[in-house]
Amino acid sequence: MDNCIFCKIVRGDIPCRKVYDDDDLLAFHDIHPVAQVHIMLIPKLHLASLMEANDSHTALLGKMLLSTSKLAKEQGLNNGFRTVINTGKGGGQEVFHLHIHIIGGNIPPMVRRD
Ligand code: AMP
Ligand code: ZN
Repeated sequence: MDNCIFCKIVRGDIPCRKVYDDDDLLAFHDIHPVAQVHIMLIPKLHLASLMEANDSHTALLGKMLLSTSKLAKEQGLNNGFRTVINTGKGGGQEVFHLHIHIIGGNIPPMVRRD
């Protein structure tokens, strides 16, 4: 996709702070981290969001999920981490190339109950 910022990162047209790269996936530091560790994990295939995913993406999505623990541990998050997938405008998605946020460090509970 010509105008997709994450496709541009995949192609090397714009730089990123890469933490992982294979045939299917790329992971890099988020440019605006919300915690000590904030990684973007993306498929190299352009897929706009989970709403566009179908049965042909089962293996890719499984690989993404299974990669999160490995990447988190490599970032020192041995005590756990948060994964976030924003989907569509209603889900607060801003970059329309599927990505998993891997977030960790000293993070608060996601939902406040007071
Ligand atoms: P989302 O709201 O789920 O679409 O999140 C998009 C994320 O992409 C945000 O956390 C941004 O900070 C991050 N982001 C946008 N552009 C870049 C970039 N060039 N390099 C790294 N992260 C980026
Ligand atoms: Zn893309």
